[in-house]
Amino acid sequence: MTTQTVEAGFDELRMGFAGEIIVPGDPAYDAARTIFNAMIDRRPALIVQCAGVADVVRAVRFGRERGLEIAVRGGGHGVAGRALAEGGLVIDLRRMNAATVDPVARTVTVGGGATMSHLDRATQPFGLATTGGRVSTTGVGGFTLGGGGGWFDRKFGLACDNLLAVELVTAEGHVVRASEDEHPELFWALHGGGGNFGVVTSLTLRLHALGPVTAMLLFWDPEAGPTVLRAYRDFMAVAPDEVGGGVLYMTGPPEPFVPEHLVGRLALGVLVVYAGPEAEARDVAAPLLRLGHAGEMIAEMPYADLQCMLDDPPGHRNYWSAEYLDSFPDEAIDRFCARADDEVEVDGSAGPALEVRPHVTGPLLRPLVVRRVLP
Ligand SMILES: Cc1cc2nc3c(=O)[nH]c(=O)nc-3n(C[C@H](O)[C@H](O)[C@H](O)COP(=O)(O)OP(=O)(O)OC[C@H]3O[C@@H](n4cnc5c(N)ncnc54)[C@H](O)[C@@H]3O)c2cc1C
Repeated sequence: MTTQTVEAGFDELRMGFAGEIIVPGDPAYDAARTIFNAMIDRRPALIVQCAGVADVVRAVRFGRERGLEIAVRGGGHGVAGRALAEGGLVIDLRRMNAATVDPVARTVTVGGGATMSHLDRATQPFGLATTGGRVSTTGVGGFTLGGGGGWFDRKFGLACDNLLAVELVTAEGHVVRASEDEHPELFWALHGGGGNFGVVTSLTLRLHALGPVTAMLLFWDPEAGPTVLRAYRDFMAVAPDEVGGGVLYMTGPPEPFVPEHLVGRLALGVLVVYAGPEAEARDVAAPLLRLGHAGEMIAEMPYADLQCMLDDPPGHRNYWSAEYLDSFPDEAIDRFCARADDEVEVDGSAGPALEVRPHVTGPLLRPLVVRRVLP
């Protein structure tokens, strides 16, 4: 399809289109094609920022009739960059970000372009929450359609376990609702199958009562890694469902709770989150607190604040790879720690830096190696 053939249909698409249509050369073009991962540099033929379902239907039909590759952009956080199509059509849903809470039915319905922050901020005043990603800027769409693990998935299940219904525009441009009762096979595929089954224009999720939560960020010298990780593994194996957490090697940030000798140096951090008050959290996490850490930040906070505690700014160059393990034997721990030692550039001011983050999701241990090349 030539550029001229695509452009020939723009006027037709623009007629009655409530959102914005952006093409190469427009002042807004570069900002509109920027996503979380700065490694991704793709140039779509057009980006349609939809304002509602009718816009999405028009965009899907437009792309389909012209044989354009179509990419759907939710929060734009997918590090592989599937939210952008080189030379294709991007259906950008970010304007469709409303979140409506039904506190009686304990459900929330969000637009297909809402982020976890839109969702969490809407449900927080009701003392309700659902499983979200570990940062608040992730799109609810891509996160939930891919499964979605978060701090409290041991208690509330994965995001997709809480999915009650979706509204979706099919590849034919039809609007359908999928739930256990309507299009149940499509609904099943949306539980972890990713974004390949249509453009999801809204998602309805189950909510759970959740009062203030406790976050504990504990720091150790990096040499303590093998001991701390073994203790963390054994702790998580028997911890109640109210506990979530993760371990990571990082460059110690210049915060008052980080010991001076670890600021700007390789440090080991353990984050334990607890669905309950601080006193209970301290009791539950006693096996870790007894290990003798070098620095700590322990605080009770609303869940929505916990969710944005680790928000990463966009614009960094990210390379991620992951291993899924159903156990975390000593040998794996030792290799994990050795690798962090080898590859972290402790001078965080320039050059490559490596963060290694093992997360615990449900019964599985998920060591996730994150290589971030700083800009
Ligand atoms: C800093 C960071 C932290 C993260 N933490 C976690 C975590 O704790 N737990 C976890 O499970 N994951 C986590 N992720 C991974 C993240 O959940 C996935 O990359 C997710 O796909 C991002 O969704 P998005 O809508 O923001 O991304 P996008 O890049 O916009 O989309 C990702 C994919 O989903 C599709 N998609 C998005 N929205 C829709 C829609 N409405 N309809 C149809 N298809 C759609 C896109 O087409 C694309 O294929 C994290 C990612 C980052 C960058």
